[in-house]
Amino acid sequence: MKTQVGVDLLDALPHLLVDFRQMKAFVEEPLVMARAEGVRYWDVNGKEYLDGISGIFVANLGHGHPRIIEAVKRQLDTLTFAPPMHGTSAPALELVRLLGEITPGDLKTIKLLSGGSEAIEAALKFTLQYHRQTGHPRKHKFISRYRGYHGATLGALGATGLAARRGLYEPLLANFIRVHPPHCYRCPFEKEYPSCDVFCARTVEDTIKMEGADTVAAIIVEPITNTGGIITPPGPYLPELRAICDRHNVLLIFDEIITGFGRTGEMFAAQTFKTVPDILCVGKGMGGGYGPLSAMIASDRLAKAFWGEPEEGIEFSHGHTFGGNPLSCAAGIAAITELVECKVPARARETGEYLAQRLEGLRKFGIVGEVRGKGMLRGVEITRPLGRQIGKRALELGLIVRSDPDWFALAPALIIGREDLDRMLEILEQAIAEVVRAS
Ligand code: PLP
Repeated sequence: MKTQVGVDLLDALPHLLVDFRQMKAFVEEPLVMARAEGVRYWDVNGKEYLDGISGIFVANLGHGHPRIIEAVKRQLDTLTFAPPMHGTSAPALELVRLLGEITPGDLKTIKLLSGGSEAIEAALKFTLQYHRQTGHPRKHKFISRYRGYHGATLGALGATGLAARRGLYEPLLANFIRVHPPHCYRCPFEKEYPSCDVFCARTVEDTIKMEGADTVAAIIVEPITNTGGIITPPGPYLPELRAICDRHNVLLIFDEIITGFGRTGEMFAAQTFKTVPDILCVGKGMGGGYGPLSAMIASDRLAKAFWGEPEEGIEFSHGHTFGGNPLSCAAGIAAITELVECKVPARARETGEYLAQRLEGLRKFGIVGEVRGKGMLRGVEITRPLGRQIGKRALELGLIVRSDPDWFALAPALIIGREDLDRMLEILEQAIAEVVRAS
């Protein structure tokens, strides 16, 4: 792979740090993408891959979408950067208006940012400041969940409940307390739903009481825990958390960085699970992969505490240079408009039912424990630790899936056609068959 001046680009590989990768192993078997269109990538050697996870839960509308590309090109000719400490831009305002039309409840106050971790950091700081400004300065502890992942920065990692991601960097911030997620297949309380009456949610109230409700600021959850294995709560779980939070003036923060923008069959998982949080963190699919874009969205009720009079100097003391830059906002506006106009979440709901049905069909290989998820976010828990091998074999065969030893997931673009989805499942079946046979 030569540049125009004849330099081999692969020489640069050992100097690059790829996300969460052992670099020596990566350099031996590198994956270097050259282009993408729809639900397909091509690497620099011309090999084709079906994109079974929308990049990384980002390209909800597929790659190379003409409407979004046009919007970004137009923005390039108009304004590419606005001074973030002096003002804002027209695309940022249009995006805020548009988001306000699709968010549930009074989630209408928006901090535009660039990445998911930034949105989580903003939510944590906003929460602390909110309690301080409303007469509860002792509320400083966050409850998060085992198996949850909230980002790679230190605050977001503090909320994360995956030892593999946290361990190297501990001790992290001290004010995080973890509780068990609603993992019915491996219930840590050895109970069964529905007779458990969502015991795992009810224990959160005990945790709040034992810590002292006057010290607990918020609970942060992914509505569907992604990195922990597409852990999907039973219907009453999130409404129960909502009720507990209300009883103790504890804020409910939803990390919808993966589940937002149609992924679960509604615009937000808050709607899928009929629970409105106090703060919604979104990213990934918001810009659809056409610009780095995320947001912390707070309810107007909370935002009132930040309004004050100019002479009081009350402000949300937070910002990032590239947050909500005009190019990313243009991508976001086009992507969200497309989601709304073409009723993409409803399409995701319908295609997602078919996907779930096909994944149930994998039981014939004798290793499927449970098929989980909603809409176009589906995971399969397996009973033998073959997930990584299945993911690796699928990649060799030209399909990108998310895999861990005990589970794998498919989350293709929400607009995928039946033929491409069937082809993905064919490859997945072949990979599973070969790995099971060889094991
Ligand atoms: N929250 C969840 C649920 C995620 O899955 C991720 C990333 O995968 C993040 C937060 C962090 O987002 P980012 O990688 O854009 O910082």
